Amino acid sequence: MHCMKRSREYLTLDSASKTVPEPSMQSCRQSQNSTQIPLRYCLMFLKTLFSVACRIWNLLLFLTKRNVRKVIAHQTIKYKTIPLSSITRQRLNQVKKKVLVLDLDETLIHSRHDGVINRMAKPDTSPDFILKVVIDRHPVRFFVHKRPHVDYFLEVVSCWYELVVYTASMEIYGAAVCDKLDKNRGMFKRRYYRQHCKVELGSFTKDLSTVHPDLSSVIIIDNSPGAYKCFPENAIPIKSWFANPFDTALLNLLPMLDSLRFCNDVRSILHRNKVQHLAFR
Ligand SMILES: [Mg+2]
Repeated sequence: MHCMKRSREYLTLDSASKTVPEPSMQSCRQSQNSTQIPLRYCLMFLKTLFSVACRIWNLLLFLTKRNVRKVIAHQTIKYKTIPLSSITRQRLNQVKKKVLVLDLDETLIHSRHDGVINRMAKPDTSPDFILKVVIDRHPVRFFVHKRPHVDYFLEVVSCWYELVVYTASMEIYGAAVCDKLDKNRGMFKRRYYRQHCKVELGSFTKDLSTVHPDLSSVIIIDNSPGAYKCFPENAIPIKSWFANPFDTALLNLLPMLDSLRFCNDVRSILHRNKVQHLAFR
C-alpha cells in the first residue's frame, strides 16, 4: 500500500510538472530587454549627473579663483606711517603745506561706458560702482573700477596734502566719480574739470598755476605726460591702469610722497623725474 501511495504521488508530481509551460526564447528576450532598459536609463542618469557635477565644480573653481584675485587686488598692504617726533613735526611746520593734484581716469580709476567693449582694458572683476549720467540728453552708464589700493592711498595722502582733483573729463562725470571716491569725507578740497583745461594741438593740458600760484608747493600725479607738459618739474609720472588686479603703483608712491612734504620746493626733487616722463608715454 505504501509503495502504491508513493507511486501515485510521483505520478501526480509528474503530471503537474507537465502542466507548467517552459519559458520560450521570446519571453527570455523580453525579460532581457526589460532589464537592459532600466540599466540604460541608469547609465544615462549617471552620465548626466556626472556632467552636471563637473559643471558645478568648474563654476565653483571659477568663482573661487575670481574671489581670490579680488582679495589679492584689494588686500590691505600698509605703508607704516610712524608718528612724527617733535623735531620732525617742527621741521614740517616750517615748510608750506603742499597741494597734491590727482588725475582720475587711468590714474585713480578706470571706467568704460555703455556700448564700449574693450576686453583688453576690462578688469576681471565687477565694477566698484556704476554711474548714470546724462550727456547731450542721452543717459549713459559708466562702469567704474577703482585702481587697487586707491582707498588706502587717498586715506593716507589726505593727511599729508591738500588734495585736488584735476581731470580732463566732463564735469558731470568727474564730479560723480569724485563723490564716490570721497564718500562724504571732504578729502578733495577743490575740483577742476575739462573746462579748466587748455587745449593745445588737440589735447587737453592742465594749468597748475590756476591750482596754486606758488608752484614750489604743487605736485601732480597723472598717467598722461601731455597733461602736465608745461609743468614737468611738478609731476610724478604713473603708469596707466586699466585692468591689472595686482597693480601697486599707488602704494609705491607713498614713501616718496611722505618725504616730499618736508622739502621747501618740490621741483628741486621732481625735476629729476623728467627723464622718466618719456617712459610713461
Ligand atoms: Mg588720465
